[in-house]
Amino acid sequence: MTTLTTDTIATWLRLFTSDVVADVDGLTQLDAAIGDADHGSNMERGMTAVVDGLADSPDLPGPMLKKAGMTLVSKVGGASGPLNGTLLLRMAGAIGDSSEIDGTTLAAALRAGLAGVVDRGHAQPGDKTMFDALNPACDALDAALADGAALPKALQVAADAAAAGRDSTVDMVARKGRASYLGERSVGHQDPGATSAAMLVDALAEAVNATGTP
Ligand code: ADP
Ligand code: MG
Repeated sequence: MTTLTTDTIATWLRLFTSDVVADVDGLTQLDAAIGDADHGSNMERGMTAVVDGLADSPDLPGPMLKKAGMTLVSKVGGASGPLNGTLLLRMAGAIGDSSEIDGTTLAAALRAGLAGVVDRGHAQPGDKTMFDALNPACDALDAALADGAALPKALQVAADAAAAGRDSTVDMVARKGRASYLGERSVGHQDPGATSAAMLVDALAEAVNATGTP
């Protein structure tokens, strides 16, 4: 059974950061269309600070995620900082002080993270937010693991579901966050937060494939 260690979490956070940095302009352009053009810079600032903090981070998956979550909450002024920070903080809480995480624990942690996003922002399905990428990813991960898929494969299925969820935000009317001010005029634009959330799940799949212990 694949298990994740601190190394996997650090790799995940690094991979996600490089994906964000590589697409900072793309994320900002999406936010320029339906928000205030700062999603790329918000995520870049927050995740760069997270990666900078990895050197003196606790050597356990949960505490490492807790520190990363607190960094995002404190460094990012936009909605996405507290929301993504809460996601990581709730994951940390679900993982606790375990040194190794199995697939079931990871799926439960991601689900707890999503619940944190909802507690904080009250997003519902179809509101055109990061929820619309994360929720299908959680569902797909649970279903794949229940079907007996190995964790790397299950996470790839979850990443595909997150990407499909991200794409589905194009046709949605925004009902949360700044984009909701546009109402119907938000239709036809992909949600920036769903876009970075799909990157987050994809980076997790990649990190587990790269470092997970078979
Ligand atoms: P801000 O909106 O403060 O400028 P960002 O531009 O960094 O922050 O992030 C915008 C993204 O945050 C949106 O695309 C959306 O996915 C997400 N978001 C905003 N409000 C909520 C909410 N209430 N619940 C879930 N996600 C939200
Ligand atoms: Mg913005």
